[in-house]
Amino acid sequence: MTDATHPVTQSALEAFTRDYFTGLGASIQDSDNRWQVRLPSHVNVAFVDSQEFEVLLGERDAEIDGGGMVLSPESEFAQQLLDEAAEMAPIGQLALTNHLIDDSHRYPSWVTESEVSVEDSSFSPYYDRTAICVFVKIGVETVSEYQTQFLEAVTVDVESEQPLPGISEILVEGFFAPGEPLSSDTTGYDVDESLEVSSEKLANAVSAGQKAAVEAVRDEIVEVRQSASRSADSEFEEYRQLQEQRINELRNEINQLSERLQDLTTDVDGAESQQQRVEALEKRRELKNEKEDLETELEDLLQEKTSGFAQERQKIYERHAIEITTKPVASTLITYERGEIELSVSQDGRTDTVRAPYAIGAGVTDEVTCKSCQAPLSEANYLSVTPDGIGCRSCR
Ligand SMILES: [Zn+2]
Repeated sequence: MTDATHPVTQSALEAFTRDYFTGLGASIQDSDNRWQVRLPSHVNVAFVDSQEFEVLLGERDAEIDGGGMVLSPESEFAQQLLDEAAEMAPIGQLALTNHLIDDSHRYPSWVTESEVSVEDSSFSPYYDRTAICVFVKIGVETVSEYQTQFLEAVTVDVESEQPLPGISEILVEGFFAPGEPLSSDTTGYDVDESLEVSSEKLANAVSAGQKAAVEAVRDEIVEVRQSASRSADSEFEEYRQLQEQRINELRNEINQLSERLQDLTTDVDGAESQQQRVEALEKRRELKNEKEDLETELEDLLQEKTSGFAQERQKIYERHAIEITTKPVASTLITYERGEIELSVSQDGRTDTVRAPYAIGAGVTDEVTCKSCQAPLSEANYLSVTPDGIGCRSCR
């Protein structure tokens, strides 16, 4: 799992679903990990025929709750619901401001991994930027069978197409979380009618988000791919062994037929009557044909073997090849402030300040170099305040 995205958690999914149902005017009765949902009579949803239904929360054993609607990040019902929500609900909007996150700033790793402590931090917003947060459904399957699927939340700046992991985390953990209804009376939910983003930019940002989401589950996909490739290996090996076996069988049968043909030739030559001779000739023709058929089959097989059974091999590996599909299923437009953060840091009683380009929700956005030696600051080359002044691990 890389940092670019944030998995959609069970609690986030429940909050999103609750919000979606409530938005449709439904009532929800909550008891023991089950919701009794009653939809208003005029509302029709694709995933269920009746106006009243039960939703089971969390992973369930399919056999115990066969046919029930199970809400979990991996469940089929969650996918149907998100598909439908994406079609029915207009794109959401959210403004992330310094005020909204109560001035709790995200410090860069070159601070959190260092010996310095942050005494104070202040953010100066310079301009607003727009990002889009998408829930991306990633399906992994082969031609023959469904493998697995993932649901990832990813936020991408619409201009730079840069992923903003901190914002996905705030949205998933903070807004799509229990007790944080996504309604307009929440301080943070502020629809800005003037917010206009071209559909082309949005499409590009969503596509960048889809790529980032796949990248985020790359390790898991590699695992599925390896396991599929192992299945293909063993299926091919089984095929190869069967063909080898068949080749041996054919050779034996052909040898036996040769011997019998030899005997029949003796019979023809030594026939005592015309009838016996005709019968022996008849039999010989029959066996000769049979032998020719087997020889053709053997020849074909030997030819296939020379090519390493390439044709069948390709067929098997194609059947086990992994196909990855991504689909954005729900999205929220986000405006967020970009500017500069000033950190007042101290170490062993000495205090100094450091400034960095910063975005609300995203943290420090660009590389920062050491004031003294100009080396880039990083988790390994962290900040340091010594009697010689502020610097980094490599110069102080
Ligand atoms: Zn330095």
